[in-house]
Amino acid sequence: MMPGFLCLSPLDNVAIAVRPEGAVAGEHIPQGHKVALTPIAAGAPVVRYGAIIAYAAVDIAAGAWVREELLRLPDAPALGAYAPRAAAAPEPLEGYTFEGYENPGGGTATRNLLGITTTVQCVTAVVEHAVRRIRAELLPRYPNVDGVVALTHAYGCGVAIDAPGAEIPIRTVRNLALNPNLGGETMVVSLGCEKLQPARLELPVAADQAWVVRLQDAELRGFGDMLAAILRMAEARLERLNRRRRVTLDAARLVVGLQCGGSDAFSGVTANPAVGVAADLLVRAGATVLFSEVSEVRDAAHLLLARAAPPEVARALVRELRWYDEYLARGGVDRSANPTPGNKRGGLSNIVEKALGSVAKSGTSPIAAVAAPGERVTSRGLVFAATPASDYVCGTLQLAAGMNVHVFTTGEGTPYSLALAPVIKVSSRTALAERWPDLIDVDAGRIATGSATVEQTGHEIFRLILDVAGGRRTSAEQLGLDNGLVLFNPAPVT
Ligand code: CA
Repeated sequence: MMPGFLCLSPLDNVAIAVRPEGAVAGEHIPQGHKVALTPIAAGAPVVRYGAIIAYAAVDIAAGAWVREELLRLPDAPALGAYAPRAAAAPEPLEGYTFEGYENPGGGTATRNLLGITTTVQCVTAVVEHAVRRIRAELLPRYPNVDGVVALTHAYGCGVAIDAPGAEIPIRTVRNLALNPNLGGETMVVSLGCEKLQPARLELPVAADQAWVVRLQDAELRGFGDMLAAILRMAEARLERLNRRRRVTLDAARLVVGLQCGGSDAFSGVTANPAVGVAADLLVRAGATVLFSEVSEVRDAAHLLLARAAPPEVARALVRELRWYDEYLARGGVDRSANPTPGNKRGGLSNIVEKALGSVAKSGTSPIAAVAAPGERVTSRGLVFAATPASDYVCGTLQLAAGMNVHVFTTGEGTPYSLALAPVIKVSSRTALAERWPDLIDVDAGRIATGSATVEQTGHEIFRLILDVAGGRRTSAEQLGLDNGLVLFNPAPVT
């Protein structure tokens, strides 16, 4: 291997430049971009991660910068034809625990939060005002409660509520209200005239318990009454939440969601494989690990289908990937709509290269189950929770699936954060971790420079997940960042 360049497989005919000044054979290779290790004739495959990421559109000389305009995108792997490997059950990993909360109705919390669900955008400003008052006036009296979160969104008013696809945003709102970090406490603020009526959420609430504040109700006279009603309902729940205490729980109780955003060419060789090691450890410890981002994994379908051993899991995976193909086709776009300009600047030439790097974070475990967008996950092990790749859409759907810790890898950098679950951010490059020391929790760029291995970094992330689940605050939590929720609604809006 040329000094300053990195590749993972002996089959590769390209490598990526590790340093900012990766000049070789006279041509400047920007950091993260690819160099040809051998001459590649027009029409010949370009191989990275031991897999074909593209075909050469022209003759490429050894030492040349292998960039997007020299490459042709391969066809997407076929859906349906698959030959699952007989997967050995992962060796159990015992003795790992964290300090978490057991919820009364089942489920495990890593944070003790009050959530206020909303059924329509029209109540957002009132609820946000109420949340500010709760933080200032009530929370100081309930020190064991970590915070209060407004579950606001743009859904609920002029929507075709019975149209195909509408079940996705509806079950997402419902299952967000049931996220384990909200401790089984439910309250809803409704306007009154919206399509998404609170009863439609089918939340499990006791028949004798008040759980909805409806702002159009006749007895609420003005804004003051609305706020008083919300604060009253919130306080009853804060009293119960405040009595909860952390107890030692097995690592198997974790539901860890994995995601990447702002990926670069390092993501697939540093941050994502390190997270993959952590994912394998979590699965061995009996935990649930969610990975997602349909549009990013579509081009690795053949690799994933080989890990989906039971036929029903493979069929469900094909169903979700095919659904997405059709969804893109209906919108008149194809898979070349991804990657982003930032991905390309970071060295990713096309969606195949991005996909191979993206799936590295799922580790090597067999895929135990597949969940449709917004569905609650009840299986242990590695679960494909189908979501779009867009960061907040994916994060929101993973929260609805029941995630209680989130691990997010980034190359270009994003101040990504969620309020309902702690987010551990892992950078693919040391330069990003140094530029954003207050936003990045783990620097996986050390793998590229040789000062840490994928295995070491993966174990470090695993231990950090347990610490964060037990209350250690992430960078985003220390800064108090909350970017809010974004619902995925593929149904018509009228
Ligand atoms: Ca993403």
